[in-house]
Amino acid sequence: MVKVRSTQISFVIPVFNEQEAIKDFLDNHFLPELSKISKYTKEIILIDDGSSDNTLEIIQGYASTDKNFRIIAFSRNFGKEVALSAGIAHATGEAVIMIDSDGQQPAKYIHDFIKAWENGADIVTGIRTDYNKGHGLIPRLGSKLFYKLLNKMGYKNTIPGSTDFRLLDRNVVSEYNKLSEHNRITRGLIDWLGFEQAIVEYKYDDRIAGKSSFDFKKLLHLAINSFISLSTTPLVILAYVGAFIMLGSFLLGLFVIIQQYILGDPLHLYWNGAVQMSIFITFLVGLILVSQATIALYISHIHAEAQGRPLYIINKKQSRNLKDK
Ligand code: UDP
Ligand code: MG
Repeated sequence: MVKVRSTQISFVIPVFNEQEAIKDFLDNHFLPELSKISKYTKEIILIDDGSSDNTLEIIQGYASTDKNFRIIAFSRNFGKEVALSAGIAHATGEAVIMIDSDGQQPAKYIHDFIKAWENGADIVTGIRTDYNKGHGLIPRLGSKLFYKLLNKMGYKNTIPGSTDFRLLDRNVVSEYNKLSEHNRITRGLIDWLGFEQAIVEYKYDDRIAGKSSFDFKKLLHLAINSFISLSTTPLVILAYVGAFIMLGSFLLGLFVIIQQYILGDPLHLYWNGAVQMSIFITFLVGLILVSQATIALYISHIHAEAQGRPLYIINKKQSRNLKDK
């Protein structure tokens, strides 16, 4: 496939309380790399995800001097995943590249992304070669387990260390824009869409300034969301647990009948009816609790989807250079 000269590439950059990093990122990291690209026109879509600091004012400044900057200002914080979706939905380019605004996803790799795309890739995925470094022990173990589970659950498409530093071809973007769920993990959904993925390996850089806004609680929430919203595997696991408990209690019951009633209690356990009942009831209570929790999780997701609310709210007054959508 040969790309023609007027082809546009869109860059989608979510920003949330990045007043310390955003200027440095744009001026010293991102824009210098962008200026090396002469083959394509470029649009830079910055999504302000309800920042409470000066981030919005800073990026509005860029938009007032350069029409290639588009600012989507959210009315409040909707989360990075939703911000990415808004950016993708507003992108007009033939390819869309998503990149963090804190410098951790090094901008110099965008050339590799574009090269892979020019060679025909529909999706180019940034893979962190150091994905289990630089975090505490628990998040590290968590992320290992996360990818292991994803793979076990049949997400063969999800490569360990894959991030949302990605390029999507217009083909993929149009399919992505059809997805309507509220609980969304961008990279999980992209993996779900299929298509061949080309890979670009990279290492996380240090944050330019500021702090990651993903603490362990947010990460755990993200992990649970991925499992619930992308598959019904938790239900299947529950069925196995239920079957296991039923089999266990059946065998225990059989043991009691044979040991106590047929053989006359040679082990001298003297298990009376109350003990036997408690064994079964304990099992059943556990089973019910687990299933209740799982069903509740699903219902909460159905609830969120059924409300049919828009995925995000844009503050039009604060947004800049947006094409009407
Ligand atoms: N971000 C966002 N909304 C949020 C949290 C983060 O748009 O609610 C942006 C943030 O500005 C950055 C990117 O998402 O550009 C990654 O965030 P962060 O660095 O906090 O996460 P980490 O690098 O630890 O995954
Ligand atoms: Mg970061």
